[in-house]
Amino acid sequence: MTEVFYSSARVTEFDYNVSLPAKLEELLQRVDLSQYIERGEYVAVKMHLGSQGAFRTVRPAFVRKIVEAVKAVGGSPFVTDTVRIPGLEYLDVANANGINHLSVGAPVVMADGLFGKDVINVPAGELLGEIGVASAIYEAQAMIVVSHCKGHIGAGYGGAIKNLGMGGIGAKNREGRPERGRMHFAQNTHLEWNAELCSSCNQCVDVCPHEAINFDDGQIYLDQGRCAKCARCARVCPTAALVAPISEEVFQRSVAEAAKAVVHTFKPGKILYINFGLDVQPECDCMPLADVAVVQDQGILVSNDIVAVDMATLDLIGKAEPLPGSKGMEAAGKAGHILQRITGKDPYRHVLAAAELGLGDTSYELVEVERKSGAKAGPAFGPSTDRIPLHVKGHGWRRGGSHNPHPCQEK
Ligand code: SF4
Ligand code: SF4
Repeated sequence: MTEVFYSSARVTEFDYNVSLPAKLEELLQRVDLSQYIERGEYVAVKMHLGSQGAFRTVRPAFVRKIVEAVKAVGGSPFVTDTVRIPGLEYLDVANANGINHLSVGAPVVMADGLFGKDVINVPAGELLGEIGVASAIYEAQAMIVVSHCKGHIGAGYGGAIKNLGMGGIGAKNREGRPERGRMHFAQNTHLEWNAELCSSCNQCVDVCPHEAINFDDGQIYLDQGRCAKCARCARVCPTAALVAPISEEVFQRSVAEAAKAVVHTFKPGKILYINFGLDVQPECDCMPLADVAVVQDQGILVSNDIVAVDMATLDLIGKAEPLPGSKGMEAAGKAGHILQRITGKDPYRHVLAAAELGLGDTSYELVEVERKSGAKAGPAFGPSTDRIPLHVKGHGWRRGGSHNPHPCQEK
């Protein structure tokens, strides 16, 4: 059974040591990063950088703590993700979301290059064959996978496996054809459009980050050379007129295969997974929005097992009450895990598929870390010489030996 270290987002004392940033420091101490990272190694800190409108990514303050912990054991960290929208625009989005070299303390780079084509092909599995892993991730000697856990329209849940399975793969191959998009579409298929269902709302055109689709005189046109097969357009289509043809089973299994391909580019024992069960919104950070959280903030989970950390996170989210006013509450009458009720997809499916592929253990022991150990945080400044004895209840207000009434007692 795998240990998953966990700190709740709740705080019950006025003490820095029980704050979530302090608990993250303690979690990183407990797992001992020196077991994963040797001095001088390049360490990919893999996260999702968000989207214009999707601001609920992992906060820079947490990322910085992880970066500092990597540096403390001699590693050379870089914060990274793969191209979702054009590379330079994506770095601008990251910056707008507060993630840049100054805020997180390490370079922020596109793992598959500015053009999303820097990939190394590795074996994946029977569905994908080979897949192009982003070169900076492929070449890194160690990796910390930092995942914002939330819903996902295709996988039901987006955690560590989804973060690597989709986000560790390059946007395109060396020839410029969609690589990550091979997971969103069944083999050799493209978008399908049903004119009779189309309401001409133009949402598919507006959401496309690559200007690959346009709507002209009642007809949808697709520029296949530009299309990255990200399926955003199909996701936002309100009438299901636009469809990315793939079954849920194949999509989720493909994500698990791709995650395995990425994991296997590292030597054993070189990856640590940190799941943030905070701002558990219904949709992926790729979308141009961030709805309110469907359950209360859960906390941070850390493990060296990608399956166990996702199972534990899903179980915590599943046990939580839906928040009033959220999509979680709107779906409260339906059956199944809260993310399944919202997305219509089984959030455990790709996690179990990853376990079947040998990526990890579905059983886990949750080890709760309640506070940062050690002394209370001391004062930021030295002791003052201007000390006053405070009023003892019932004995008036004293200063400098003379009895003066406290201002609020003067009347
Ligand atoms: S799948 Fe749709 S949104 Fe994505 S690049 Fe292609 S046309 Fe644009
Ligand atoms: S989003 Fe759907 S309904 Fe709207 S224009 Fe595109 S295909 Fe038509």
